[in-house]
Amino acid sequence: MSKNERKHDQGNSFYMSDTNDRKVKRYKMRTLLIIEALVIFVLVIGYVVFITNRNRGVNNSQTTDQSQTNNTGSNNSGTNNAGNNNTGGTNTDNNTNQEPGGNDGQSTEKEENDKKAEELLAQADLLAMRYDYEGAIGRIKEFGDKYVEYPKLTEAIAGYEAKMAELDPFGAYDSPDEISHVFFHILVADTAKAFDGDYDSNGYNYYMTTTKEFNEMMQQMYDAGYVLVSIHDVAKKTTLEDGSVKYVPGDIMLPKDKKPFVISQDDVNYYEYMTGDGFATRVVLDENGKPKNEMLMDDGTVSVGDYDMIPLLDAFIEKHPDFSYKGAKGLIALTGYEGSLGYRTNDSTSPTFEEDKETVKKIVQAMKEQGWEFASHSYGHRDMGKATYSFTKKDSDRWMEEVGSLIGPTDVYIFPYGIDIETTMGLYESDKYEYLKGLGFDYFCGVYSKPWIHIKDDYVRMTRRPLDGQAMLQFPERLKDLFDVDSVVESIRPALK
Ligand SMILES: [Zn+2]
Repeated sequence: MSKNERKHDQGNSFYMSDTNDRKVKRYKMRTLLIIEALVIFVLVIGYVVFITNRNRGVNNSQTTDQSQTNNTGSNNSGTNNAGNNNTGGTNTDNNTNQEPGGNDGQSTEKEENDKKAEELLAQADLLAMRYDYEGAIGRIKEFGDKYVEYPKLTEAIAGYEAKMAELDPFGAYDSPDEISHVFFHILVADTAKAFDGDYDSNGYNYYMTTTKEFNEMMQQMYDAGYVLVSIHDVAKKTTLEDGSVKYVPGDIMLPKDKKPFVISQDDVNYYEYMTGDGFATRVVLDENGKPKNEMLMDDGTVSVGDYDMIPLLDAFIEKHPDFSYKGAKGLIALTGYEGSLGYRTNDSTSPTFEEDKETVKKIVQAMKEQGWEFASHSYGHRDMGKATYSFTKKDSDRWMEEVGSLIGPTDVYIFPYGIDIETTMGLYESDKYEYLKGLGFDYFCGVYSKPWIHIKDDYVRMTRRPLDGQAMLQFPERLKDLFDVDSVVESIRPALK
């Protein structure tokens, strides 16, 4: 067959079946259109189902992330941001698809409750570590009726109640008479500078403790069952039925093997004479609002860190929450003649006078919120036993005006050199006492080698034990109940002169 024939054949056949073909063609076209329409329909339905499902998935993850965001709050902003970023792109498209109620709503509520239960349990456990079992139980019950749905919460409460039943007033002790109140001066952060043989060295060797010694003391006391308490829990003010007030032993409740003790630190003023001798220079708040120390380094830079008792004790308690009864920290005693906490707030000619006063107020406020307490150590650091009434009045008024105005009310007075205003073993009766009492002081602290306390109707007298170089090198036997002196004392210390 030639090419032409074939052409003709085709042309011919086309021509021949023209009418029938058109009908068939039209029929085929219609079928094709229907099939096409069906395919499009199926595709559209499929797409709609796909989109709907996808939206549902996104909504679920979105609500989960939101519930996490709400629950973790400020604790974990890193996770929150990540969660938000994951759905960030689709949030705007699908916000209108969120349906209130329904299955999704229920599962979210359950997730939120689960999360809340975990949080309350963690907070309650921390309170329980600080022996605040009532607080721990109360924290869980903040969940309302819902806590009973969580066995781990009801079990935790049962555990706290069991521990609470085993507590004793004053733990291992029978009364506040056995409670030690220990004290320090500014700690030596750089021993090479403090014990360099210059004229201050011997004084530092007597009256100071090094940061390393302090840490070792705390560790050994912690291991021996000592627990830090507030002096206001050792003895407390109560109101009697007739409305009068009276001091009585506090109600420190501790396990039977725990020994409460109080810590204070004197002269937290960072005096000028100590400059360059290896001590911190002042207290500052870090970016988290925690008290730290500034220290001048050899290269002239100022370093912020744990160079003295306040941040060191904070760090130790953070590591061992059960070292602190209900969050108690130390008692900070301030004189006034060189300002407070390393700021020269006594000097009205200082260019930073107003600014420094505000800084001290802020630091004190933050520290109080974190469990620290403050005391007067007099204005001028004189022998208050020998002081006359008029000197006592003048000195105390000035302290109230220059220091009390920054730190707020305090009822604790710590005697300079540990010398009491009276030597009486009976009741205070001097006009000096009456004056100090009138200024609001109810707790008076001297120094003695052993625990000693007087709880009288109107005031409390509690002596303190020095944990300094003199005690360690000259009277190590006095410290045996607290720690092993030989393993605490730093070998760099020279002999006492
Ligand atoms: Zn002092």
